[in-house]
Amino acid sequence: MRVLKFGGSSVANAGRIASVIEIVKRANHAEAPLTVVVSAFSGVTDALLGMVRQAAVGDEAYLARADALREQHRAAAGELCGTLGGEFAAGLEAMHADLVKLLQGAALLREASAQTLDQVAGFGERNSAFIIAHAMCAKGLPAQFLDARRVIRTDAHFGAAHVDVAATDAAVAAHYASHAILQVVTGFIGSTKDNQTTTLGRGGSDYTAAILAASLRASVVEIWTDVDGVMTADPRKVARAFSIPKMTYAEALEMSHFGAKVIYPPTILPALKNNIPLLIKNTFNPAHPGTLVSHESPEAGTAVRGISSVSHVALLTLQGSGMVGVPGTAARLFAGLAQHDVNVILITQGSSEHSITFAVTPEAAAIAKHAVQAAFALELASKLVEPVRVETDMAVVAVIGEGMRTRPGVAGRLFSALGANGINTVAITQGSSELNISVVIPRLDEGKALAALHEAFFLSKTKELNLFLIGTGVVGKTLLAQIDMHADFLRQHRGVQVNVIAIADSKRMVFDRQGLPLANWTQRLAADGRPTSLPAFVDEMIACRLPSSIFIDCTASEAVPALYSDILQASISISTPNKIAMSSDLARSRELKALAERRGVILGYETNVGAGLPVITTLNDLLQSGDRIIKLEGVLSGSLSYVFNHWKPGTPFSALVAQAKSLGYTEPDPRQDLSGHDVRRKLLILGRECGLPLLQDNVTIDNFIVNGAGHGAAAFAAPDAATFMNELAACDDALGEKLAEATASDRVLRFAASLDHGRARIGVQAFEREHPFASLGGSENMLVFTTERYKDRPLVIRGPGAGADVTAAGVFAEVLRIGATLFSGRSNSW
Ligand code: ASP
Ligand code: MG
Repeated sequence: MRVLKFGGSSVANAGRIASVIEIVKRANHAEAPLTVVVSAFSGVTDALLGMVRQAAVGDEAYLARADALREQHRAAAGELCGTLGGEFAAGLEAMHADLVKLLQGAALLREASAQTLDQVAGFGERNSAFIIAHAMCAKGLPAQFLDARRVIRTDAHFGAAHVDVAATDAAVAAHYASHAILQVVTGFIGSTKDNQTTTLGRGGSDYTAAILAASLRASVVEIWTDVDGVMTADPRKVARAFSIPKMTYAEALEMSHFGAKVIYPPTILPALKNNIPLLIKNTFNPAHPGTLVSHESPEAGTAVRGISSVSHVALLTLQGSGMVGVPGTAARLFAGLAQHDVNVILITQGSSEHSITFAVTPEAAAIAKHAVQAAFALELASKLVEPVRVETDMAVVAVIGEGMRTRPGVAGRLFSALGANGINTVAITQGSSELNISVVIPRLDEGKALAALHEAFFLSKTKELNLFLIGTGVVGKTLLAQIDMHADFLRQHRGVQVNVIAIADSKRMVFDRQGLPLANWTQRLAADGRPTSLPAFVDEMIACRLPSSIFIDCTASEAVPALYSDILQASISISTPNKIAMSSDLARSRELKALAERRGVILGYETNVGAGLPVITTLNDLLQSGDRIIKLEGVLSGSLSYVFNHWKPGTPFSALVAQAKSLGYTEPDPRQDLSGHDVRRKLLILGRECGLPLLQDNVTIDNFIVNGAGHGAAAFAAPDAATFMNELAACDDALGEKLAEATASDRVLRFAASLDHGRARIGVQAFEREHPFASLGGSENMLVFTTERYKDRPLVIRGPGAGADVTAAGVFAEVLRIGATLFSGRSNSW
């Protein structure tokens, strides 16, 4: 025997029922007979309960609703069976008449007892099973309607009756002994010893199927629903959720208790006890294998089978010195709750016994508070316990899997994934079965937590990085183009999905939580962009509550870095080529770093120095591995590198500056480069990275032009760039002499920055031909680290240190590095 159960959405209308009959026909073969259990048409149970409640308050609208329901059933029956035969039509009509009588009774009495509610609610299944049995016959599949009240025997706990297994077994055996053809059974309903109609609780048709299967010693229960089995998480909340091929009864039980709506939890017990596998299948996608629930745990695979959540709970805490070491406290508390019929979702008690925290549904919060305070009235009065604290707007997220038992570190991974996304855990429980770790978190963070945990436990095949970019100058633009170009590669080969959620320039900003299309972001920004407001951008970014979020500042503005602390505070990482934050106020730059650390996120500014060259990363690697920096020397300005690398005796200095300017290497006013102020920012950043409390004034700048050429000071003071360029020509001779001097002693001149025993200097210096700086070409940057380890031969980093391409690539690489750290420790063994 096999039992197939079809839920409400599978039998929502004639069309759906026709496909159900096809499924049943395909499954029907002589070796293993079938029993089919059906729910009411979708929405019908709610409609029936609505009607009886209306009747009970004297709202006559119930009559029209009852008529509409009659039409709905007749229409489906007509569509499936053609003209309604005498007995069939009479059967439907009799049920309708019964229903109307009951409703009228409720209207007269102005009340609907639990008993009446059950009787009314049962009409949905009675109609649907009756119609489907006839439809099967009409479509050439012999079948017979079975009203489950004849076989499912229960107690009189209306609304959620308990099954009398022995009586049910006997009734089922007797019925099946004389009914060999396919039975189409009403789900959800049963009856008491004295033949009162009961129901098994909302969603109870699954349970009916499992009870029948147990009685019939069935080989399988197939639960046909509208999704592809049990999913790793709610697909409406986690886009990457997928269906679980196999899981154990215990896992299915935990999943269904914590919000997975696919199976009605009591269903699992009869199946488990009788070792009957449950197969969850999709009527809308019958080819999908669905989920098999059995005793067998899939060997290999993940420690965590799935993640579930209860979206809205209230958390109550009882605490006070009067609870410490007092046996029976918990018993009293929970007895108090039980007396008021409050169902507890989760419990934790600290080992200090100073407090007990538990979660209930939000509707139960007030009554739970009252119940507990009543139970501890004396202690409350004598201040041995405090008034119960109630926190609403909480959610419970549970990770579930038998594999967690044998694998240490699951909790660690869970908390680091939540921590890295700035989600505060308010309470934690792990059952001693180690099958489930539940955490209570603020409700707003539910989606983010589910997505982050789904990734953390490798349930998601790809990890997502969510980027928020501000600044679409050359670097920002190039970065977007690079991301667009490499997105497929990253997804396919690195399992990383890069989503650009927001883009803003100085005028407009556009957000798309699904990720903006990068091929035409300019059009999107123009079409859908709102006026840019920095605070609004940050607020909306935070409100997105996406895991693994990274803010990218590609502006040169001072206003954007002013928001870094708000961003880090919200546990969003930052990557930026903007030097302002790390090179301005020392205390603030330190604060930002500390804040990032506290929030478990990353503040990345590798491209502040040497653009894409790995300068800061290398420096940190050296420092962290215990090396000591003796001296740092750098050519850190691409434009000045170009000028000095090309300066040969006979070439006027001013001509080279003009050339560099026309190539776009210098700032519009080349004095900004020549003054050394930009290089000073870089040197400050490097010095601070070494732990020195460097301030701008600690850096000595020797202005080559002002100090080195007679007319230099006057030239530098020129009112505008053009005048400066003209007057610089007047310095060419004096500057040429300096070069000649250096050349005579076989040296080269370079615009260098150095940090030597804590002394920071910037200026033009002469270097021997052997010095690494002497070999520089083009507009290259170079960093020379002389350290304890690299004493005789310094460590040299050299390469293009400016330009949109390399800077954007540096930011891109940093973003991926941040991602790797946020996902850190997530090795494939999970
Ligand atoms: N029709 C009932 C309900 O809506 C039982 C079921 O569908 O499982 O709760
Ligand atoms: Mg760099």
